[in-house]
Amino acid sequence: MANDLAHAAKELGIKYFLISYVDLFGALRAKLVPAAAIGGMQKAGAGFAGFATWLDMTPADPDLFAVPDPESLIQLPWKPEVGWLASDLVMNDELVAQAPRNVLKNIMLGADSLGYQMKSGVECEYFLTTPDGLKISDAADDATKPCYDQSALMRRFEVIREICDCMLTLGWGPYQNDHEDANGQFEMNWDFDDALVTADRHVFFKYMVKAIAEKHGLRATFMPKPFIDLTGSGCHMHTSLWSPDGANLFEDEDGELGLSDLGYSFIGGLIHNAEAMCAFTNPTVNSYKRINAPVTISGATWAPNTVTYTGNNRTHMIRIPDAGRLELRLPDGSANPYLMPAAVLAAGLDGIQNQRDPGKRLDINMYTDGHKVRGAKKLPLNLLDATRALAKSNILRSALGAPLIDGYIKLKTEEWNAYSHHLTEWERANTLDI
Ligand code: ADP
Ligand code: MG
Ligand code: MG
Ligand code: MG
Ligand code: MG
Repeated sequence: MANDLAHAAKELGIKYFLISYVDLFGALRAKLVPAAAIGGMQKAGAGFAGFATWLDMTPADPDLFAVPDPESLIQLPWKPEVGWLASDLVMNDELVAQAPRNVLKNIMLGADSLGYQMKSGVECEYFLTTPDGLKISDAADDATKPCYDQSALMRRFEVIREICDCMLTLGWGPYQNDHEDANGQFEMNWDFDDALVTADRHVFFKYMVKAIAEKHGLRATFMPKPFIDLTGSGCHMHTSLWSPDGANLFEDEDGELGLSDLGYSFIGGLIHNAEAMCAFTNPTVNSYKRINAPVTISGATWAPNTVTYTGNNRTHMIRIPDAGRLELRLPDGSANPYLMPAAVLAAGLDGIQNQRDPGKRLDINMYTDGHKVRGAKKLPLNLLDATRALAKSNILRSALGAPLIDGYIKLKTEEWNAYSHHLTEWERANTLDI
C-alpha cells in the first residue's frame, strides 16, 4: 500500500507530503506537496535548485529532482495530515553521486554483495534552550552532576513524553529517556535497525525533536558544544554486521568480549581511518570544542581525545559495551545522518578487506592516564586538519566516490575559510595590547 503514495494518502488521511532530502552539511530541505499532486511527483520527483542548498553545484545546473522513497514514509504523529518522505536525488535522469543518501545506499549495496548488512543505532543527545538559543531553558537545572537528574527530567516531561509517544506510535521501539551529563541536555533511545532505516529515522528524529520543542515554546539543538563548560552533544553510533540469513557476524562467544574476528577487523579499519573519518563524524568547526576538550563542570567530557578502543569503558573512541557490537563514541550531533554511517562502513570494510589489526585493547581511564600510552594517534584538532586528512585518504575516496569527496572538501574548505575570516573575542583579549 505504502508504495502508491496517492493511495496511502487516502488510506491514512494524509493531506500533504514533505518530499525531503539532506544536503552535504546535513541540512534538511523539503517541498510541501498536496496529496492531489503526489502521484506525478512520486514518479518525476520534486524539483529543487541544488546550488541553493549545501551541494557542490552551480546556479547554472539543471533542476535537481528529489524522488521520494515510499518505504521511508512517516506520518507525523503530532500532525497526522502530513507525511514525511526521504528521497533520492536525481539530475539529468541519473542518481546524483554526491547526494548523502545515495552515497549511503551505494556503499551498503557494496557491503551487501560481500554478504554484510550493516545495522546501527544512534544516541542523539540534544539541549533544550530558550528560543534565542543563548541559555538552557530550565534555570533550576543547575546541578554540578546533572546526569539522570530525575527532577530536571520531569520538569521537561511534557516535551519528552510527546516525543517518546511519537516514537511509540511509529513503532521505533523507544526504550528509555534521560537527562544527560550537561545541564539542559537529554537523550532518548530507540532500537537499532538496518543502517538506512536508522539514518532516515535519525533525520526525522532531529526534525521531530526541534518541532515538538518549538510547540512547547523551547528550542532544541544538536550543536556539538553549545556551552563551553558543559559536556557536549554526542551522537554515538552502535554498529554490527549481519549475514543474509540474519546472523550477527560481530557476535562470537569465544571471541574476546564476545566480539568476532570480523568485528575486530572492523575496529582495525575505524582506527586506521579515524582522522579522515572525522570529517564526517565531526563535520563542523564547533565539533572540535567537544573532542580533545578540557574537563567539563561535571568532571568528564565523555568524548574521546585519542584513537583507541576498550571494553565497557567510556573514555575511549571505541567501546565494546556488549557482545556482538561496537560503539563509536566519536560522532557528534552535527554529523550528517547518512554520511556518518557511510564513512563508518567504508572504514570498517577497509579493515575487513585488509585484516587491519586494531592493536591492543586499553582498559585504562584515558582521561587521567592517557598520557602514559605511547603511540596512540591523536584525533584531529580542528575541522581543517580533518578535511586535509580526508583529502589524503584514497580509501575513503574510492569507497565513497570522488564526486562526494571532492564536493565535500570544497564546501568544507569554504566553510573553514568563512570561519577564519571571523574575528573572535579571544583574539581581541589576547592580542589587542601586544
Ligand atoms: P549507551 O548509553 O550505553 O551507549 P544506549 O542504550 O543509549 O547505550 O544506546 C544503545 C544503542 O545501540 C541503541 O540504539 C541500541 O538499539 C543499539 N544496539 C544494540 N545492539 C546493537 C547491535 N547489535 N547493533 C547495532 N546497534 C545496537
Ligand atoms: Mg520556482
Ligand atoms: Mg546512551
Ligand atoms: Mg549519552
Ligand atoms: Mg553511548
